[in-house]
Amino acid sequence: MGLPGHRRTSSDKRRRSAHFALKKAVLGVCAKCQKPVRPHHACANCGEYRGRQTVDTARGVARTLKRSQRRQPVPSEVEAKAAKAEQKQTKEKASKS
Ligand SMILES: [Zn+2]
Repeated sequence: MGLPGHRRTSSDKRRRSAHFALKKAVLGVCAKCQKPVRPHHACANCGEYRGRQTVDTARGVARTLKRSQRRQPVPSEVEAKAAKAEQKQTKEKASKS
């Protein structure tokens, strides 16, 4: 197995890590919706790139809507949960007295 040939001094570490800082992202402005966009990328808001509609943003909106609806619990499940919580409370009260 490889072993380090020399001890890394604190100044070695610091000199190396002097280049670790993240650079601020360069952003342009979307011609259609005026939102900030990354260069050479389609607009995340409206899906336009160089004057053409390249990403179907309506499809993404429909998908997120569908997903949010799927995650909502069925009303009967909510009722069952509430009943369970009530039973727990009554049990706790009974054990206290
Ligand atoms: Zn846009």
